[in-house]
Amino acid sequence: MKKKLVFLMLGNALLLGFLGGCSASLEEQKNTAFDIKNIFEKENLAPIVVVGSGPAGLMASVYGARGGKETFVIEGNEPGGLLMKTTEVANWPGETMIEGPQIIAKLRAQAEHQNVTFVQDHVAHIDTDRWPYTIHLESGKKINALTIIIATGAEPRMLNVPGEQEYWGGGVTACAVCDAPFFKDEEVVVVGGGDSAVEEAIQLSPFAKKITIFVRKGEMRAAHSMQERLKGYPKIEVKYNVEIQKILGDLENVTGVELYNNKDKKVELFQTTGVFLAVGHIPNSSFVQGTLKTDPEGYIVVDRRKTSVAGIFAAGDIADKVYRQAGTSAGSGIEAALDSVQFLDDNGYTNQVAQQIKTQLFSENDIALQSNDLHELSSMEELTALVTNNPDQLVVIDFWTETCSSCKQMISLLKESIDEFDGSIIFASVDADEAVDIASTYNVMKVPALITLKKGVVQDKFTGFLGKKELRGYLEKQLAEGHLEA
Ligand code: NAP
Repeated sequence: MKKKLVFLMLGNALLLGFLGGCSASLEEQKNTAFDIKNIFEKENLAPIVVVGSGPAGLMASVYGARGGKETFVIEGNEPGGLLMKTTEVANWPGETMIEGPQIIAKLRAQAEHQNVTFVQDHVAHIDTDRWPYTIHLESGKKINALTIIIATGAEPRMLNVPGEQEYWGGGVTACAVCDAPFFKDEEVVVVGGGDSAVEEAIQLSPFAKKITIFVRKGEMRAAHSMQERLKGYPKIEVKYNVEIQKILGDLENVTGVELYNNKDKKVELFQTTGVFLAVGHIPNSSFVQGTLKTDPEGYIVVDRRKTSVAGIFAAGDIADKVYRQAGTSAGSGIEAALDSVQFLDDNGYTNQVAQQIKTQLFSENDIALQSNDLHELSSMEELTALVTNNPDQLVVIDFWTETCSSCKQMISLLKESIDEFDGSIIFASVDADEAVDIASTYNVMKVPALITLKKGVVQDKFTGFLGKKELRGYLEKQLAEGHLEA
């Protein structure tokens, strides 16, 4: 059984009492002329555009729509964000235990209930020279936005060593707040030399038997005061000049690491059951670099939820390197939406104006999927016929079930890829609970799962959720491998 890592929302970070936010301050805002008359000659208007569809983005959309303003969510390449990759969440408000993708499915359903429009696209850049602001989407479409809420999150930085992906959720994690209780009386390691590494180690100390911090340099980067705090925790030891080369395990859980000492050049086997990464985060802010004020690490600088451009707000991890919790993100999304609604009210976006521009709104028809050519298979006979009729193409089968919310997200991403891979791949979907013969033929025990067939023979099998970018990468890899063998 894989060690299940749980995502806890309200962290010891609060208990430990460190406060702060982005260190850079928002001295002044860029104010463009907000003349409501400007909007009447524009097409593709949107009063509120939320960029990002994690908890911050979804809650912002709920409040935007509840505030009576038409709200659009640009979902991004990985709809749902980091929670889509989280197994169980133990302290999402009101839930004793819930899966990350389920939280997203519920928030999304709530947003859909409020008539929020979801746009399956990615923002390339935002032009703030004139108001309304122009959002340029990767598809080439443009939206004229009256207000924008950026909620694109941040990703934990990875070590990129063998075993890291394989044992992710089986002992490798980037969240001590979430997973520390699973390592009771175990020996664990924290990787990193910054303030986060110190925080993570301290958060682990009530649970783990021994915590070793691996620092790659001869000294820690963490603040002196933080390093001093470590002295009060005898279970924590710091090892300098060491780098993990490889994470080892027993197929399910981590059992140790191969540790390289860059001073004496020796490699040792270090036994551990948990590897906590604290090597920094990468905020997803490249598309606003030069447009909005960011700090040296790329986090958007905010004053409450306001960014450096009036009418543009930021919520969630993109503007928060301290708390980084799903609950705090959702809360900041709510704040950003309330600010957006206030901004619209303050600048003359009345109910009457809303009525007047109804036909100029960004239209759902423009964004409807172009193709729905997904073969829904219900038996082995149908699959055999599909393979026989398409001997020169790869067949990618997406296995799903009715109760799997991440499966539904993945199917809609797969549908988007159909046009992109125009005819070079045949796409099929299988309800693993219904078409039991197909599922058992390919030994599909978990969903979502992808099977790639070449001339009816399995070329690849993958189990798990893939975001848009990863899915595209997966399909490109299948095509490349398929051609090599051809
Ligand atoms: P950070 O300050 O960027 O530190 C990252 C650490 O990871 C550095 O020691 C770095 O090593 C190490 N590292 C990076 N890549 C690595 C790799 N591949 N292998 C091994 N080590 C690697 O990140 P952070 O600690 O997450 O802190 C981020 C920001 O939040 C900072 O401004 C911090 O002050 C703030 N923060 C504050 C608190 C607090 O006030 N209590 C708590 C948490 C975070 P090198 O030093 O060798 O580059």
